[in-house]
Amino acid sequence: MADEQLREKINQLNEQLLAWADAYYTKDQPVVEDYVYDKAYKELQDLISSHPDLEPNNSVTKQVGGQTNSDLPKVNHEVPMLSMGDVFSKDELKAFIDRLEKQTGPIPYNVELKIDGLSLSLEYEAGKLVRASTRGNGRVGEDVTKNVRYIKDVPQELPEPLTIEVRGECYMGKDAFLKLNTARDEAGLETFANPRNAAAGSLRQLDPKVTKERDLSTFIYTWVNPPQEITNQHQAIQKMRELGFNTNETGELLGDFAEISDYIDHYTAERQDLKYGIDGIVLKVNDLALQQQLGNTVKVPRWEIAYKFPPEQAETIVNEIVWTVGRTGVVTPTAVMDPVQLAGTTVSRAALHNPDLLKAKDIRLGDTVLLHKAGDIIPEISEVVLKKRPSDSQVYEIPTTCPSCQHPLVHLEDEVALRCINPACPAQIEEGITHFASRPAMNINGLGPKIVQQLIKQELVHDVADLYYLTADQLSELPHFKEKSIANLLTAIENSKQNSVELLITGLGIDHVGAKAASLIAEKYHNLKQIAELNVQDLAKIATIGETIAESMTAYFKQAEAKQLMDKLEQAGVNFDYLGQTGPIAYNFYKDKTVVITGTLANYKRSELTQKLTDLGAKVTGSVSKKTDYLIYGENAGSKLTKAQALGIPLLTEEEALAQLQ
Ligand code: NAD
Repeated sequence: MADEQLREKINQLNEQLLAWADAYYTKDQPVVEDYVYDKAYKELQDLISSHPDLEPNNSVTKQVGGQTNSDLPKVNHEVPMLSMGDVFSKDELKAFIDRLEKQTGPIPYNVELKIDGLSLSLEYEAGKLVRASTRGNGRVGEDVTKNVRYIKDVPQELPEPLTIEVRGECYMGKDAFLKLNTARDEAGLETFANPRNAAAGSLRQLDPKVTKERDLSTFIYTWVNPPQEITNQHQAIQKMRELGFNTNETGELLGDFAEISDYIDHYTAERQDLKYGIDGIVLKVNDLALQQQLGNTVKVPRWEIAYKFPPEQAETIVNEIVWTVGRTGVVTPTAVMDPVQLAGTTVSRAALHNPDLLKAKDIRLGDTVLLHKAGDIIPEISEVVLKKRPSDSQVYEIPTTCPSCQHPLVHLEDEVALRCINPACPAQIEEGITHFASRPAMNINGLGPKIVQQLIKQELVHDVADLYYLTADQLSELPHFKEKSIANLLTAIENSKQNSVELLITGLGIDHVGAKAASLIAEKYHNLKQIAELNVQDLAKIATIGETIAESMTAYFKQAEAKQLMDKLEQAGVNFDYLGQTGPIAYNFYKDKTVVITGTLANYKRSELTQKLTDLGAKVTGSVSKKTDYLIYGENAGSKLTKAQALGIPLLTEEEALAQLQ
């Protein structure tokens, strides 16, 4: 691969991993399973190690964790809280040990379970708990002292007046997790993807009372700079247990690889029966002086390693393969299966991504398949259980026509995806208009997928520009559409005409051109007509715009349909200019919204913010109800925050709320 291509690949992989890490660490809402993340991470690590000069400045391989939640107070970690190196097979583990023992000779290890939670630091002064914090980015964590006071197994006071820092894992037991998710499900709230995210989401709360309601626990395993008489990890754990910390009883002092391997086998088999989740085992050099000597890299200690368990699996039967058409015409298959329990949830669908994958795995209707789902998130078919294949099974025939418009499907050059290239395909138009109206694009409030479907069905819109020609009379033809909803929708559409042009570019749904690329291009070239004339070289002048994006942009604007669409948009009065920081508000987030403010605000007096919101057309009320659109909360928010959470009302931190004022 040429260097430029490789650089682009590395950058893309890095950006993808950073985005996944942000969803996982900062938002506690992973979008892919750990297995997928780990695989991509390993690929990036390998590429960087063979081409260190291409390493991005913000490489995920150099960062610990994610960003800190801006609303919780910050804590500096004098001794950084690091991540941990990992291996995925016993061979890799053996290789790690062999490398290490080349320097040290044979040594004992404290082998512990790797608890699936989030790191927690506890600081005591003269025996009293004074501070608890999360790992954050390793150097700066979040202060969760108030929250930790509600975790029953954390001692508030030690039997001796010690000034110490200990660290461990905060986790949610399996029973507590299932109970919490059942309750949330019944209340119509989103459930947590897995116990790790439930623990993180429950601990990193502005309102400690929320933490109080969640059943969190801890296992403490690290004593930071222990007194001299403690010389090894095993001893440190015993002493911490005597001081009243909850330590895990399963750790063992092992030296021989066969014993370590048995330990792994034992817990691979037993993990289902443990009352808490584990995702592997941790091997630690037992001798603390030797740990010091071996030291750390910027990201991980050299004296410990995690062996991660392979993903959990379950068997089920494939009954159907459904094909859906996306915005860009890509047609993707999904397997519909007999429901099966897998890593704590019932699974009945698995994305198959593209026809090649389906063919490669030779998945057929009636096949028994093995599913995996490492982090409880995206179920995937690992393989077909061939010995259970029915004798009369037929190779699955990949469709040749679009499931929506019956137009022949094609493979574009170099693409594994199957596409419908009919520009009039209703499924694509529907997806495209829904995308155009969505939040990162033109943000047309009230124009969701259901209404878009109806507009297309009634043949009121054929492309995004048609939205700007809709009349009240036409909208009144839609079922359940009354005067108020008609007026609201027309106003939202009208307001969107004033958006800065990057939102329009995002809305056009050009392949590979997301909100970030659209902003960069608009910032540099300002006007849509000018942008439509650019060539690949012009676009590639922007530092982070690669060839793929540049080619896709220019190809899009070369099409006659794109030109017609632009004319139609222009005639409707849609803004084509970049309005930047100084331009009018891209959209008015607060218009006609009912907002409640609670807690202490850092930047505004409550009356001032109320005035600002009212000026923008919001109604600011004093109590939370089902009618509340947003709750803005500051420090020490109390019952209103809890109530809004229970009702599933969107919450805005002060910072998020202020960002929408600009
Ligand atoms: P890690 O979770 O793999 O390992 C380090 C952590 O293990 C420590 O910080 C500590 O909190 C914990 N731990 C548990 N038991 C321990 C014990 N007995 N001794 C010492 N530490 C123990 O590393 P990480 O940097 O926190 O996270 C990386 C992992 O997180 C990835 O490998 C991936 O699986 C997952 N991740 C997933 C996504 C996603 O999108 N699914 C995104 C980012 C990270």
